[in-house]
Parts: sequence; structure tokens; C-alpha cells
Amino acid sequence: MKLVFATHNPNKLKELQKLVPASIELISLETLGCHDNIPETKNTLEGNARLKADFITNKYKLPCFADDTGLLVNALHGEPGVYSARYAGPENNAQANMAKLLTNLKDATDRTAFFKTVIALNLNGETHIFEGKIDGEITKAQHGEQGFGYDPIFKPMGYDQTFSQLPLSEKNQISHRGRAFQKLIAYLKDTNVTR
Ligand code: IMP
Repeated sequence: MKLVFATHNPNKLKELQKLVPASIELISLETLGCHDNIPETKNTLEGNARLKADFITNKYKLPCFADDTGLLVNALHGEPGVYSARYAGPENNAQANMAKLLTNLKDATDRTAFFKTVIALNLNGETHIFEGKIDGEITKAQHGEQGFGYDPIFKPMGYDQTFSQLPLSEKNQISHRGRAFQKLIAYLKDTNVTR
């Protein structure tokens, strides 16, 4: 079965390719020849995931899934949330985003936060939603070099290291996105679409 992953991010595609059963042919937007800037104009993660999946399904008439992720910081009432990529401005600059978050949390005693990923899957005329979440806390400074986004300042609960310091395979196992992907794959296996 051909299944489109509506992302322009090659790292996400690589991460998932390893987990998907061989009977599913995962198609990237590049392979589709889709260079559209898919809109992310909703104010919820689920809204944006649905918007992206629908855009591709409507345009290419193919089964498709899309994901949207946010970092929700409790002391900031869920900020940056759906605006995580653009927290410090439209250019999606990870250093600027982290700097803004550390400044906004300067006097906070509660540094707890969580990442949440929502996946919308369009299959056989229905939309299915899967969620993955990981709790943790925002460190006071950056630790580690690997990864992307807020990885250097997010320490998952029960760990002494940030996402940036953990081996990528370990991060992918426990992360919000990893957990949401695992649910998606279990669903695809259960419904036998992989055979
Ligand atoms: P997206 O919806 O996957 O594009 O994620 C939106 C934003 O959330 C990204 O631009 C990052 O700033 C942040 N983000 C998502 N996933 C992660 C992660 O695994 N580590 C660190 N930051 C992330």
C-alpha cells in the first residue's frame, strides 16, 4: 500500500521508515513532487494535522497522514504550544526560540513541560487521530549538541540527560512523536492494511 507522509522534513521520514512494515510504501512529498507550502493555520495541533493530511488527500487522492507537534510549558499556560516552531518569529530559529523560552521561565519555580504530537491519518474515507506525549522539564541552560528544536533544554522525566544528550534511538523510543508513530503503526497492522 502506498501511504503519503505529509512532511518536508527528511529526518522525520527517515525516523519512521525504519518502523514501518515493508509492505507499506511510505511516500514523501518530494517523491510526490509536492512543493506546496502546506498551510498550518489552525490554533490546535489536531487542527493543523488534519489540515495538512486533507490538503494532500484532496490534491493527490492518496491515503495520507500528517503530524503536528508542540512543546507545552505549564508555567506559561501551555505556551509555546501550537506556535512552537515560530515562538521567537516566523523564521523557525531554534536558538532564538530556546532563548525566548529560557527568558520567559527565568523566575519560574515550576519548569515542568510536555511535548505532544498529534497524527491525522486519512484512510478509506475516514480520519483517525493518534496522540503521543512525553512529560519532562525545561533545564536552565542548554545541554548537548544533537537533535533539533528544543532538544538541548528538554529533560524527559526520569532521565538525567536532555533529549540532545540521549542517543537518537533512545529518544525515538520514548518521544512524543515516537509514541504517536507507534500507535499509528499498531493501527495499520491491526486493520491489516499492511498485508
Ligand atoms: P513539528 O510540528 O514537528 O514541525 O514541530 C513544531 C516545532 O516543535 C518544531 O519546529 C520544534 O521547534 C518543536 N519540536 C517538535 N518535535 C521536537 C523534538 O523532538 N525535539 C525538540 N523540539 C521539537
